[in-house]
Amino acid sequence: MSSTIERTKVDSAKIITPNGLTYQQPVGLFINNEFVKAQSGKTLKVEDPSTEEVVVEVESASSEDVNYAVDCAEAAFNSSWSTRDPRERARYLFKLADLVEERKELIASIESMDNGKALALARGDVELVINYIRVAAGYADKIGGRTINTGENYVNYTLREPVGVCGQIIPWNFPLMMLSWKIAPALAAGNTVVLKPASPTPLNALYFASLCKEVGIPAGVVNIVPGPGRSVGDTITNHPKIRKVAFTGSTEIGRDIAVKAAQSNLKKVTLELGGKSAHMVFDDANLEKTLPNLVNGIFLNAGQICSSGSRIYVQEGIYDRLLTSFKKYIEENIKVGSPFDESNFQGAINNKSQFDTIMNYISIGQEEGAKVLTGGVRVGDKGFFVRPTVFYDVTEDMRIVKEEIFGPVVTISKFKDIEDGVAMANDSEFGLGAGIETENISTALKVSKKLKAGTVWVNTYNDFDASVPFGGCKQSGYGREMGEEVFEAYTTVKAVRIKLD
Ligand code: NAP
Ligand code: MG
Repeated sequence: MSSTIERTKVDSAKIITPNGLTYQQPVGLFINNEFVKAQSGKTLKVEDPSTEEVVVEVESASSEDVNYAVDCAEAAFNSSWSTRDPRERARYLFKLADLVEERKELIASIESMDNGKALALARGDVELVINYIRVAAGYADKIGGRTINTGENYVNYTLREPVGVCGQIIPWNFPLMMLSWKIAPALAAGNTVVLKPASPTPLNALYFASLCKEVGIPAGVVNIVPGPGRSVGDTITNHPKIRKVAFTGSTEIGRDIAVKAAQSNLKKVTLELGGKSAHMVFDDANLEKTLPNLVNGIFLNAGQICSSGSRIYVQEGIYDRLLTSFKKYIEENIKVGSPFDESNFQGAINNKSQFDTIMNYISIGQEEGAKVLTGGVRVGDKGFFVRPTVFYDVTEDMRIVKEEIFGPVVTISKFKDIEDGVAMANDSEFGLGAGIETENISTALKVSKKLKAGTVWVNTYNDFDASVPFGGCKQSGYGREMGEEVFEAYTTVKAVRIKLD
């Protein structure tokens, strides 16, 4: 059995972040509250995408390591973790949120170094993480069932119970935030977890693991196993003892996970996948408010957000004015460069492969005959920086309008009226986010009802709150994160029906 193998502990590495903070970075797999060497004998090189330099190497798990982590998570689940007073579990989470808050500048700096995102944005991510852990903890003792009246001869009630060991696979665009959206509700509900961070961005996941240990979360409750998706991710997906898998990433991998999760042991699945979200601007929109919303829609996190407003639809009466003012606004305000230079709004693209994908789509757009309003080029020759890029006068069949680019590239199309605009916005296989810019309340409400999306933002965009559920429809996936809705995924309903004599 895997758990009988002797595990070698691994020392942390001393790192100085680009803004001069010194800390100890754990580099081992985090299993059963120890940082240990991988059985694979392999490591992952972690690169700073703004310099293309290797920051550190971390252990890269094998399938055997995943099996060991699952054994430990199962043992922790079967101990008192899943059955204890939920307020005790909440207390650990509140302590964890406090510790993240105490170290927030360091944690934001690790995020910027690992992911490439602007430090101001990373700070915002960490605030959301702190808030979300507290919101999830607050639900711990409120994940209740209900009583059902079927007449005087019976008592019926339901219990909401944790599902067991949860496998969680997350992407590189919001390494810590995605982790918090997965781990906090799972733990609040009494589950234990085995989480795989994305290979380019394992640093905050391992640092967070050290905080879990520091606040005293029992061994085996949280396990973090960096390693390749095709082996470590696949072992999680197929594992017979894992009862639920949560995935955020591409639609292609999400589809594969749904099939394998079903074939292995019919584990529960939640999928938060890609998008090609429409952001609609109506003739009566207030451009002063609209321009920053459009920017947040597509250039925040360098466009590497699943809900990015990557298709802008503009009503014909305001189209020309919007083109001129959007170009001016971007060129004057959106600086690109080092995440640690605080005048930069946009940092680096997370990895070379994503950078190449984005640059390739920019060429495709030009070949398809779309016109470039601004951008279209990389910035500098070191680090993965891309100038904010806007294509206009596009046609709806172009690949740059249909396919997710996942970068700072947006298309602008013109529409006539609500009906026409909504038809264009909904003409997508995705359904994650959508945006409406209008000063007319009827337009806002009417169009919100018609758009096929998991979230509709009105006069704001990419604006997340820990208490508001997030997720998609169509090929953007299923299941919800945050809010109270997330507990659907992390619990199972037991009905108790008692006959009275
Ligand atoms: P991805 O391949 O879907 O990766 C997401 C996560 O899944 C990573 O942890 C990855 O591990 C893991 N994974 C990969 N193959 C797997 C498999 N066969 N079984 C189980 N897990 C597996 O995404 P990507 O390659 O990083 O990016 C590709 C595209 O996905 C992007 O261009 C973008 O369109 C989309 N994307 C969407 C989101 C989102 O938030 N919805 C986030 C990131 C990317 P490794 O890192 O080890 O490969
Ligand atoms: Mg991939």
